[in-house]
Amino acid sequence: MEFKFNEKEEAFYNEVEDFLKKELPPDWPDIPLVWPGGYSPSGYRTEENYKTAERFRAKIIEKGWLTISWPKEYGGKEYTNMEQAIFDERMSYYRAPVVDVIAAGIVGPTLLRIGTEEQQKQWIPKIASGEIRMWLGYSEPNAGSDLAGIQTTAIEDGDEYVLNGQKVWSSGAHVMDYAWLIARTDPSARRHRGVSFFIVDNKSPGITMRPVLNILGQHHFNEVFYDNVRVPRENLIGQKNRGFYHLMTALDFERVTLVGIGGFKRMFEEIVDYVKTTERDGRPMSENRSVKNKLAEIATKIEIGYILVWRTAEMLDKGRDPHVESSILKVVSTELAQSIAEVAMDIMGPYAQIVEESDYTPIRALIPRGFLESISATIGAGTSEIQRNIIARRGLGLPRE
Ligand SMILES: Cc1cc2nc3c(=O)[nH]c(=O)nc-3n(C[C@H](O)[C@H](O)[C@H](O)COP(=O)(O)OP(=O)(O)OC[C@H]3O[C@@H](n4cnc5c(N)ncnc54)[C@H](O)[C@@H]3O)c2cc1C
Repeated sequence: MEFKFNEKEEAFYNEVEDFLKKELPPDWPDIPLVWPGGYSPSGYRTEENYKTAERFRAKIIEKGWLTISWPKEYGGKEYTNMEQAIFDERMSYYRAPVVDVIAAGIVGPTLLRIGTEEQQKQWIPKIASGEIRMWLGYSEPNAGSDLAGIQTTAIEDGDEYVLNGQKVWSSGAHVMDYAWLIARTDPSARRHRGVSFFIVDNKSPGITMRPVLNILGQHHFNEVFYDNVRVPRENLIGQKNRGFYHLMTALDFERVTLVGIGGFKRMFEEIVDYVKTTERDGRPMSENRSVKNKLAEIATKIEIGYILVWRTAEMLDKGRDPHVESSILKVVSTELAQSIAEVAMDIMGPYAQIVEESDYTPIRALIPRGFLESISATIGAGTSEIQRNIIARRGLGLPRE
């Protein structure tokens, strides 16, 4: 198996790179905003960063790159999944602002599979043009790994559904327009049945949001409460009571969307550069055997990550659903995010723990931030334990526990 770009892919790689160099401020990759494989910040901390991210988003939309692999008739460019992967790789390498992972990366592709023609006509153009942004309303206080436990109800009442319940860990809900959520439409049915998908307007009366601060003290998560919220009947997406099966499709898209392999490479290059240019006990750190071994191990893991990214893209291009591969990719990439942070902490010692920038802070105080942020990546979008269960069952045919 050889992953060599063809001429068109090579040209696209260069086009994305030129675009990023032109459209991002030259110092953007140096701003310590995001750890690779982590979740993008919902706020950019400074107004200037936020404005840069918004201007950049507009440029991406103008290029038609928000929905790059979608069919042309739905506002896409019909690029291959390999080209999408190239785009994601370069974007993450340049630490470009994450434009719209959920609406364009998860909801749109799922809608194209399960939505009716009317629903596609209603939502797809708005997603493709970047007019609306969405958040994921899956988790509840008693339903995380086991989403069949969701208790939020959506009961039919005339031309509407009436929503009651609570969602939690709702990333970015406070800055989005709509929820893509699951609710119980038949409370008397068995757990996996009687669940449906909805698109719910954040502005609907009866919604209360409360911030939940993450480990970095930032407002990224929310608790969202629904109290007799009325949702138009046509906002039930896909088949009524078949939401759990639709969810499997949406989750596969989610796990492939969140990789950002180029970001690992960039972070790693910075650490390698640091050990080459920093002395400890009068000698360059790069001469230390333990440092070399640890970095060689990370280099190997990054290469594995790249192979998995290209392989998954190739499978998608051949029309195969990467059920198991997306779980493998999720485990490998998010655990790699942790390994890089742990190795950096290890080899830089106490210096790596200086949280504010000072003359002694390695790599702009990004390491302690990454060390904390990378913890959650193995939990969001399904924990590593759950992914390993999927790999064992679906991939290896091993029995359910
Ligand atoms: C950064 C981040 C962003 C998130 N964003 C969103 C979002 O936008 N929208 C949303 O809906 N949710 C979001 N979540 C929630 C996330 O999906 C859940 O946290 C996750 O699915 C785990 O569920 P839980 O927290 O209820 O843990 P639990 O399901 O209670 O799991 C607790 C522990 O038990 C383990 N475990 C559970 N069941 C099994 C099993 N069968 N076999 C082996 N081990 C098991 C788990 O792996 C875990 O270690 C986010 C979470 C994080 C960390």
